[in-house]
Amino acid sequence: MSTTTTTNAGTPQAAPSYPSQVTGMDILVRALRMVGIDTMYGLVGIPVTELAYIAQARGIRFVGFRHEQQAGMAAATHGYLTKTPGVLLTVSSLGFLNGLTATANATVNCYPMIQISGSSVREPIDLLQGTYEGLDQLNIAKPLVKAAYRVNKPEDIPTAVVRAYRAAVSGRPGGVYLDVTTPCLGAIMNAADADKLFYEPVDLVPSMPPSSESVSRAVELLASAKKPAIIIGKGAAYARVEDKLKALVDKTGIPYLPMSMAKGVLPDNGPLSAMACRSTIMAEADVVLLVGARLNWLLSRGHGKWSADTKFIQFDIDPEEIDINRPIAAPVVGDLASSLDAFIAALPAKLSVDPTWVPSLQAQTKTKNAKFAERLQANVSVVPMDHWTALSAIKPVMAANPDVILVNEGANTLDDTRDTLDMTLPRHRIDCATWAIMGMGMGSCVGAAVATGKSVVAIEGDSAFGFSGMDFSTICRFKLPVTVVIFNNGGIYNGVGVNMAGTSDPAPTTLDVRARYDKLGDAFGAKTYYVTTPAELSQALTEAIASKAPALIDVQLAADSGKESGHIGYLNPAALEHIEV
Ligand code: ADP
Ligand code: MG
Repeated sequence: MSTTTTTNAGTPQAAPSYPSQVTGMDILVRALRMVGIDTMYGLVGIPVTELAYIAQARGIRFVGFRHEQQAGMAAATHGYLTKTPGVLLTVSSLGFLNGLTATANATVNCYPMIQISGSSVREPIDLLQGTYEGLDQLNIAKPLVKAAYRVNKPEDIPTAVVRAYRAAVSGRPGGVYLDVTTPCLGAIMNAADADKLFYEPVDLVPSMPPSSESVSRAVELLASAKKPAIIIGKGAAYARVEDKLKALVDKTGIPYLPMSMAKGVLPDNGPLSAMACRSTIMAEADVVLLVGARLNWLLSRGHGKWSADTKFIQFDIDPEEIDINRPIAAPVVGDLASSLDAFIAALPAKLSVDPTWVPSLQAQTKTKNAKFAERLQANVSVVPMDHWTALSAIKPVMAANPDVILVNEGANTLDDTRDTLDMTLPRHRIDCATWAIMGMGMGSCVGAAVATGKSVVAIEGDSAFGFSGMDFSTICRFKLPVTVVIFNNGGIYNGVGVNMAGTSDPAPTTLDVRARYDKLGDAFGAKTYYVTTPAELSQALTEAIASKAPALIDVQLAADSGKESGHIGYLNPAALEHIEV
């Protein structure tokens, strides 16, 4: 900008002009904007506070949390729901480590996210000289993420951001770590020079069609099937291929079974949903199409056994996923949208499916559903409530609000909710996912509400809620339409654990069955409810969803509702003989 000034002698003179300058932080924000990032989740402090201010000033929504792990869970959820990387901003050392747990979890779940962390000056870290928050963050992150980069110079920031973006979303999506050193964040450049660094990346998310041989092989195998079935995984939800899957199912009449987060990709209650027939499919299906689902522990060990004769067609973007536990007869490696298009186009007009297969699954579904309904009905008015009582009150309310996103974590609370609540829309269920972790709740609620603008209901076990409870305050500060429902049975699994030492200390699994979680909501100005009967619960949930405002419902369950899951004593019973429970 040129101005004029006046000398003492009164003659006007041009003021010295300096080129306008920008910092590494300005460049980073602009680079993020260039690739379309509009939201950042994080927790500020040295050296990234100013960065968050600049981001906010330049049109990136900054959602500040109380704990980095939850900010990371929000970024991961944002990535899963939008198919673009969620961004997490953390400070150095502990903030970085807190956030890294979420980035690692995102990588395992194939959610695209980028953790951007400030880090301290390199030299004293490398020479172990003891510096403020000194930690070799890049090397710590490397084994836990899909890709990790460090930027040392402001000139490299735009390239680093594009590479981080590409790594997060290309091929199998995952978590990416971007280390930005304090000197790089604070470095100054002439704005005109910085302008030259930016470019529009071409084809940021390239399609990756499968080979035509792989498609023909898969079609041939399906054509021979007598008892085929489709397993839909969260990769299909992420890839947004619900219309293609519907076309496949409509065209072939093959029944489908969703993995937990794929519930709703095709409706749980549709005529070809075989959700209740998992063990029959594992035992009897001759050809199974895995669509964005991995044959990991959730589809084998401990969760049923496949017949030795079952043959698999696996649709996946990652060639390394093929054959991980079972030989795959027909791998179709490519992005799901391209693969399903090619596969559907190549299907024969008629398959040779056994005419009794689908009707037998439908009959089984009917019987199992009736039994399940009976079980819910039997508990419908039990007080103090158990998990089933509470869920029978919740079920019709959620059915009346199908577009609400459900976040769900816990032990019994997770299993029973998943089994009870039907989903009819894709990407409306977010849970503990592949690692079956606890502690994704409040962050996922925030990420889901911010990324979609939709209402969210979280159904949380009391223990699960404890991991992220303080970030309920983030829901309140940002006035998000989120209702958190806490099933309080006073413990991990349940509240009746026995202290085997006989002292007054609580048992390892015991929490607080009398805790009033609703008062925590009061502290942050939420609408709160403490409910002890199914009628109160139903009314509170209806009202809370309709309010489109932060709400917390403390559901009083009986302390003995719920059972322990995952006993491993059977691995070595002799060692446990002396313990009586
Ligand atoms: P679930 O737990 O629901 O079974 P998983 O997370 O185990 O689902 O599996 C998801 C799979 O989907 C992963 O193997 C991943 O590589 C794959 N995937 C993710 N995105 C795509 C995509 N766009 N196209 C093809 N496969 C994908
Ligand atoms: Mg899986």
